[in-house]
Amino acid sequence: MDAEAIKQSFEASRLRCTPQRYAVMAFLMEHTEHPTAAEIFKAVNRVDPRSSRATTYNNLRDMVRAGLVREVAVEGRAARFDAKGMRHHHFICDRCGNVEDMEWYDVPRPALGSLGKRILRECELIFRGLCTKCARRRASR
Ligand SMILES: [Zn+2]
Ligand SMILES: [Zn+2]
Repeated sequence: MDAEAIKQSFEASRLRCTPQRYAVMAFLMEHTEHPTAAEIFKAVNRVDPRSSRATTYNNLRDMVRAGLVREVAVEGRAARFDAKGMRHHHFICDRCGNVEDMEWYDVPRPALGSLGKRILRECELIFRGLCTKCARRRASR
């Protein structure tokens, strides 16, 4: 994992790179399985026991707003996070709730008229179904 790349991404997004934000980013870049805020806090706290839960959650929110981190909303479960990097879509498993990355391809934008006065930031897909593991479990039954 490249420390310089992390610092540069903070600079590019005009967000100050505090040690705690750095720790959040480093953890997210190493753990691509879309951890929850609670998991991120636990990991950051292990490195720096002074960081509070509130600070970690605030940092996460700031980083999402700055576009450094992506929040993947999963209904009925805690939100998951990933360090943006390459654009990608997501596959969410109905059974185990796993969030997996899917290769990016461009998605058609909605017709202008249907947006009204809304300002569109991004168009991405969420695929739903059974992940490889759960699909295999079902097939073997
Ligand atoms: Zn699954
Ligand atoms: Zn992802």
